[in-house]
Amino acid sequence: MQIFQGANLPILDPAFSNDGASNSVTKKVDGKFVLRPSSLNVHCYFSYAQNAILGKKSKPSGASAGGTAYHYALELAYQYKINQQTNPNIRDIQEIGVTNWKKAMEVDELHYSSKDSPAKMTDDIANGIIAYESTMKATIPLATETRFSIALPKPSNVYSQVSGSVDLLAVDMHTPQLGGTQVGLSIIDHKFTSKKSTEPKYRMQAKIYQLMAQANGKNVVSTRLHNMVRSQQLKTKTTPTQLQVVNPIDDQATTNLVMSRVNSLINMGEMYHFLVSMGISPDDAVAVAYPTTTPEVSFLCQELWCGWYHQCPINNPSSNPSFDLVSMLQQFKEKTNDEQ
Ligand code: SF4
Repeated sequence: MQIFQGANLPILDPAFSNDGASNSVTKKVDGKFVLRPSSLNVHCYFSYAQNAILGKKSKPSGASAGGTAYHYALELAYQYKINQQTNPNIRDIQEIGVTNWKKAMEVDELHYSSKDSPAKMTDDIANGIIAYESTMKATIPLATETRFSIALPKPSNVYSQVSGSVDLLAVDMHTPQLGGTQVGLSIIDHKFTSKKSTEPKYRMQAKIYQLMAQANGKNVVSTRLHNMVRSQQLKTKTTPTQLQVVNPIDDQATTNLVMSRVNSLINMGEMYHFLVSMGISPDDAVAVAYPTTTPEVSFLCQELWCGWYHQCPINNPSSNPSFDLVSMLQQFKEKTNDEQ
């Protein structure tokens, strides 16, 4: 059964095809920024703020454009399953993924790591969609790309709310019936990466999705990461593109950590807002308010991977803000104390 044919093949709007992480693109509600769930786990706050606060776009990478194409193909597969109550032809889904990937290559000049190439990405998307088929067939989807928003735990001049879309709401296959006819839901998050994810790393993002869905009346009992790990050429062997499923643990400590991370981001935003209100340029205000990382902490902190490497204060000391930071921080502290 063909679901999409020839000229009718769905093509993602090029304006959205290469951001690689639509959850982090700058968006405002009531004139303030929206805090995304993905921002809780960012590897570097300075790099996060370049995009989420200053609205700058980094050099588009093949890895993120390929991930977007893969992601879109799965979204359409599940939409088809919801609408038609049957599984789509996996070859059609494969074609959607590969066609959207090729379209992304036409739209932007993409950059690649030394281990990546357009041909490898084409193969990994095609193989990844086939590798996902049995999981897709076993999943009972209810809704794709559902947006949830919740109020911030404290007022902010910079952020208006926490808001984000979950890739898929599905029936939780482990506890489908919670007494009577009540169905437990699972949030499923899709990723297409070159490395396996670790459970502790994903736990916080999973928890905030769950808290947001629950606050919006959804009976979510679990969150799972379906991470398609791309093929790798190791010294002695080649590993295929294969699915990694992560089931994060759900505990009070994680809830506490989520709340403290949200509060930290609000505090960074408040500092940024204060500095801008004092006449500091937005670029300098970000350099002060949003901390950098180091290559020892994150492997992404390298010229190869980081699109902000050359603007970053740690690699470009001449870009360090020249105003009297100590006195500014003192004023910010006094202002914050006055407000409490
Ligand atoms: S080079 Fe490192 S510290 Fe600088 S923006 Fe990139 S990830 Fe952050």
